[in-house]
Amino acid sequence: MEAPETLQKAIAMFSDPQKAFETAVEFRWPGGNVTCPRCGQAKHSFIKSRKLWFCYVCKKQFTVKVGTVMEDSPIGLDKWMCAIWMLANCKNGISSYELAKNIGVRQNSAWFMLQRIRLAMKNQSILRLGQEGGPIEADEAFIGGKPKNMHAKKRRMYHSPHIPKPAVFGMLDRETREVRAKVFGDVKRETLMKEILEQVVPGSKIYTDAYKAYETLPKHGYIHEAVNHLDEYVRGEVHTQGLENFWSLLKRSLSGTYVAVEPFHLNRYVDEQVFRYNNRATKDNKLTDADRFALVMSQVAGKRLTYAELTGKDCDAVSSPEAGTGQEEPF
Ligand SMILES: [Zn+2]
Repeated sequence: MEAPETLQKAIAMFSDPQKAFETAVEFRWPGGNVTCPRCGQAKHSFIKSRKLWFCYVCKKQFTVKVGTVMEDSPIGLDKWMCAIWMLANCKNGISSYELAKNIGVRQNSAWFMLQRIRLAMKNQSILRLGQEGGPIEADEAFIGGKPKNMHAKKRRMYHSPHIPKPAVFGMLDRETREVRAKVFGDVKRETLMKEILEQVVPGSKIYTDAYKAYETLPKHGYIHEAVNHLDEYVRGEVHTQGLENFWSLLKRSLSGTYVAVEPFHLNRYVDEQVFRYNNRATKDNKLTDADRFALVMSQVAGKRLTYAELTGKDCDAVSSPEAGTGQEEPF
């Protein structure tokens, strides 16, 4: 499947409904091996005029959007795929206002689309870091939301004095240049050790700062070296400068493009930035804009994000943002 190399080409390509449909189908079911998203079987007939399939097993219809992050969305594939192209390739991300203006949808619809595309960007690797010998940098960062930018109601919800700033814990495999990062409610020893044990091959070398939580790493079979940031930031190979670079990219996108991200949503913005970092072009991989678009398209299936999950509100109590009402989001 030929993916568009520029935004201009993406717009031209997807403005043709047939072409947009064929592209989405090819990314979803490579080689035309269409299977029912409900039962996984290939016993169906295609209703060409309506661009949908009828499954003989389930006795139900399905479209190319069913079972993907685009499910239930009345927004057309042309707009969805342009939005995916943009988020995959804009260096600092794209706000819902910009997206809304660019593709001609309401701002809250654009916000909902972006959150779902971030889910498709989420890292799916099940391999642990350190497969190729590492070393691994590990570090934690605190992301300060600015309460003054938030809606008063949200401010009360998320910024009570008892809720600390959200912490993001990250790891960088210096050999493969892959970053993993996640939001945690705390940075206690047990929390960080559990995550490291899940994500890093035992026996790997791990570099951290002098934070006490990391002191038990050798007990878990890791080789641990730390720099005490009071005296030094770098001691030969031992440093966390690679992650520092990632934190500054994350913080820049959060303070620039995304003005007021609530702790509840922070993980998705972290996923977006991790995608951008892990799939940026380097002298070794030569990844292009077309490759990044294709990668997100290949990950849209098998994931769903409902309005209720996204907002913590009951879907019945409010109408869908795409129906035109509801949601008050500051961004
Ligand atoms: Zn079926």
